[in-house]
Amino acid sequence: MRLTLSKMRTEFKEPIQYSLNLAGDSISINSLLHKTLRIKWNGIIICRKCKKHTKKSFGEGFCYNCFISAPEASPCILKPELCEAHLGKGRDLEYEEKNHNQPHIVYLAATDKVKVGVTRETQVPTRWIDQGAHQTIVLARTPNRYLAGVLEVALKALYTDKTNWRSMLKNIIDSTIDLEEEKWSCCEVLPNDLQQYFTEDDTIFTLHFPTTQYPEKIQTLNLLKQDCFEGILTGIKGQYLIFDHQTVFNVRRHTSFEIELHINE
Ligand SMILES: [Zn+2]
Ligand SMILES: [Zn+2]
Repeated sequence: MRLTLSKMRTEFKEPIQYSLNLAGDSISINSLLHKTLRIKWNGIIICRKCKKHTKKSFGEGFCYNCFISAPEASPCILKPELCEAHLGKGRDLEYEEKNHNQPHIVYLAATDKVKVGVTRETQVPTRWIDQGAHQTIVLARTPNRYLAGVLEVALKALYTDKTNWRSMLKNIIDSTIDLEEEKWSCCEVLPNDLQQYFTEDDTIFTLHFPTTQYPEKIQTLNLLKQDCFEGILTGIKGQYLIFDHQTVFNVRRHTSFEIELHINE
């Protein structure tokens, strides 16, 4: 079957359920586990915004024009502290109002280290799944993206804001991490004006990914360098497909790539 890749859709279950969109239908990726998949890129990238063909993908699946103009590719996506939605400013005011001038949360996620992150409240727990987090806790709830970004910046002195994707895929977990303890030690270091956004709820979420075998070494499949690949699907974590022979495929990174997917029963 032919499909244009996009971020996998997820459902927070035990284990997490993954699906891909195929012409309005959805294919369960969990049901493909232990099967041999062949992925062949046909050389085409279709911009996810304007649907025109593009030679190169910018950001996550945009053509260059859309990358520099689309609200989905604004700098405040990666750097929430730059968001101006609460001031009524941005590339697209309607988009900013609907997506960024909305309640956001700041969270801690644990894998091999503790990471701080920001997401729109309605993106919980999708965002955590996409990052392949082992455990998470909500730290704070703010009325808009900007304030969540300011909080995150204040915590960057203590925690990384990047996921170490290699450790994540090898399933390296530091089980001594206590997120509840981390949460309250954060509160102590924050300036008073930000402490008001802290949440009382100490629920710790644990995520279970449908993976039977984690790689020990990691080889990444990049369709720009290798346009055809075949392997047995052994797991799904974050936005990655994990194959036998230590190969991992970042689906999100290949957003807008048109591929042929062949499944050997
Ligand atoms: Zn475009
Ligand atoms: Zn924004």
